[in-house]
Amino acid sequence: MLIIHSITRYVKRNIGRDGPVRPPLRVKICKRPLPEKRLSISRSLCYNLPMNENAMTLSRLPPPLLAWYRENARDLPWRRTRDPYRIWVSEIMLQQTRVAAVLGYYARFLEAFPTAEALAAAPEERLMKLWEGLGYYSRARNLQKAARLVTDRGGFPDTCEELLTLPGVGDYTAAAIASAAFARREAAVDGNVLRVITRLTDCHDDIAAPQTKKNIRAQVREIFPEAEADVRIFNQSLMELGATVCVPNGPPKCLLCPVRDLCLGHARGTAESLPVKAPKKARRAEEKTVFLLLRNGCIALRKRPETGLLAGLWEFPNVERTLAEAAAGAAVRAWGLEPGAWKKRLTARHIFSHVEWHMTGYALEVSGEGPEDFTWADTLEHYAVPSAFARFTEEVRRELEE
Ligand code: SF4
Repeated sequence: MLIIHSITRYVKRNIGRDGPVRPPLRVKICKRPLPEKRLSISRSLCYNLPMNENAMTLSRLPPPLLAWYRENARDLPWRRTRDPYRIWVSEIMLQQTRVAAVLGYYARFLEAFPTAEALAAAPEERLMKLWEGLGYYSRARNLQKAARLVTDRGGFPDTCEELLTLPGVGDYTAAAIASAAFARREAAVDGNVLRVITRLTDCHDDIAAPQTKKNIRAQVREIFPEAEADVRIFNQSLMELGATVCVPNGPPKCLLCPVRDLCLGHARGTAESLPVKAPKKARRAEEKTVFLLLRNGCIALRKRPETGLLAGLWEFPNVERTLAEAAAGAAVRAWGLEPGAWKKRLTARHIFSHVEWHMTGYALEVSGEGPEDFTWADTLEHYAVPSAFARFTEEVRRELEE
């Protein structure tokens, strides 16, 4: 029944349509009886028929894609090097962060820490200061932990398996470094690659599902080119197509696409509705009251806990919930401080991947000692305050300059 359904589906998809020529259908006769549990994986069996078609589409992809990449790729600093350290730093910085936002940070970071050894030996405060504003601060800490391991072992690991043992390095990053720095035929599958491949193959599987990623990684690995120079840039070429032509927000720019003739999503008119992604769970909203406490030209700061969100960074003292001015005054007194002039009320919102902070801030003069974990700073220059507090940081800088 299942096989009949699959064949019917294949025939329906391939008769009376415009588009690429499909390969002939091959049915492999299996002489052994199928084990019972195989009967339950109908989805995989149905999936297997168009896979041949996908494989054919993808096998023709590398030559036009690589030629296009060599002519059109953006000139980015990490593409001019084979140094695994520099490639690794760029890959970590680019996680969840746009290229334009990374460029300045990348240059400053490498100027300060030009080698893994220099990063391994860096004071944490300096590292966090250089990372300030880039977000996802655990990335910086993991970079340093990994730099220490690399220094101890006397050099970078050059295989995906070994790269995966470094803190902060997952499948994608390991494959990106292994291919670009060491010419390993490893597929680095990020959001760009998922989008490009699902559109090219007209695949409607949920890209949030780990199995889809695994399938796509296997498909890309199959079509990796042979020549070393091509291997080093193949992952980048797929990502570049996704970032600049087969774009995420808005319709793909198919008229400019070097692989349009191969694209099943384009031929069937489905590209714009791909990839399919199951909706994420809604973020949790947290309300906070943030205090910009000014005393004799200094601002109160305190260090966040060593684990959890924004671990170990500096923050303006704050409490859970939104407090009206009277309750905010009571909170200040509870810290052993006496409120003086109330200067300003501000609001801000910051979105993390899983939580949103809705913040109300009060800037006010205070007197008194305050708790031991408060630091009174006359400049923010030496303190890494995360961008979640950017609106307040701006205000504090203005206050301290006055
Ligand atoms: S033809 Fe369009 S949908 Fe297909 S890969 Fe190119 S840009 Fe993406």
